Amino acid sequence: MSEVRTYLDWNASAPLRPEARAAMIAALDAVGNASSVHAEGRRVRSLVEEARARVAKLVGAKPSEVVFTSGATEANNWALSADWDLIFVCGIEHASVLAPACRSAARVIEFPAGQDGVAQVERIAEFVLRSGAPLGRALVSLQMANNETGVIQPVSQTAMFAREHGLSVHTDATQAAGRVPINFRALGVDLLSISSHKLGGPKGAGALLIREGSEIEPLIVGGGQERRRRAGTENVAAIAGFGAAATAALADLQRVHEIAKWRDLLESEIRCFAPEVAVMGASAERLANTSCIAWPRRSAETLVIKLDLDGIAVSAGSACSSGKVGASHVLAAMGVPSDIARGAIRVSLGPTTGRDDVLRLTAALSAIAQTTVADGGAADAAASDERILEGV
Ligand code: PMP
Repeated sequence: MSEVRTYLDWNASAPLRPEARAAMIAALDAVGNASSVHAEGRRVRSLVEEARARVAKLVGAKPSEVVFTSGATEANNWALSADWDLIFVCGIEHASVLAPACRSAARVIEFPAGQDGVAQVERIAEFVLRSGAPLGRALVSLQMANNETGVIQPVSQTAMFAREHGLSVHTDATQAAGRVPINFRALGVDLLSISSHKLGGPKGAGALLIREGSEIEPLIVGGGQERRRRAGTENVAAIAGFGAAATAALADLQRVHEIAKWRDLLESEIRCFAPEVAVMGASAERLANTSCIAWPRRSAETLVIKLDLDGIAVSAGSACSSGKVGASHVLAAMGVPSDIARGAIRVSLGPTTGRDDVLRLTAALSAIAQTTVADGGAADAAASDERILEGV
């Protein structure tokens, strides 16, 4: 087992930024409750409000539109659990969107993605234009970028259509925030979810942005915090870390082309020794940091374990649930055959990733290609084709 680690799993969780650590340590010693009127309380309140302004700036929103949550899972659950009559979702969404949609009392219409990984939002238009009847309270939930493939989704076009037809729109921007510029106002969506730890803040913090003029009933009640929108004493240290990470991530947006350069190097190097690999979503617009590489007839699980032993952290594009390996629901929704999907690993980079990290990974994969024969895929695929809504 190698001692020196190369971390290439930023979409699962980004390393904590030094700015976020410093802000959290400072906030940990701030005495008091942000709801108290005394000086201690006001000082804690100011930390929360400063973080709110920073998060708002990252996504081009007003501070009053930011409601802090425990993460994007809560924000997505909140958005999807409101009192909707009809919900449109694509099969490539994160489980924290799909599961609350399935549990809600609303009628749920799932639309597919193309093989390029782009959600076929035209299916929503077809449905809306075909159904003459009023839709009631209808929501479209469309992620901004996919966590496995990095494919960027047509959110603003969808929002434009939705607005014309009286539908509300939620976007899960968890993977996009800090990786592509976001302007909440210009996007035209009503609700937007983000997570702190994907952009270098602490885990366990996030936000739901609620467009001014939009209403959504609280998910968590029993306190007046967050202007009565989300009850519970604020996790001030995590919120302060989230705010600091948001400011740093905004500055790092300028370095996106550098990250894209390393991602492109990674893909071209791999093609040299394994020309059979397919990059999922390669023909679509993608996040600069994400590469989902499917190696036919290989087992992603085996690849991840071998790379881990070599000191490299990546993730499988498939998920493991109760010890049973199943094809990624994202790749399944894109129509990727299971023998290809089973060999899909996700490599995700960040602002501190460099050429050496990428070359270490490609050298390790090249060694695997030379020393082992294809081992997975078809045989496993027959064992389980079940859809598993997991993955980070
Ligand atoms: N949505 C997407 C697209 C994600 O990748 C994740 C993180 N796995 C989440 C939502 C959930 O975010 P959190 O970890 O903050 O609950």
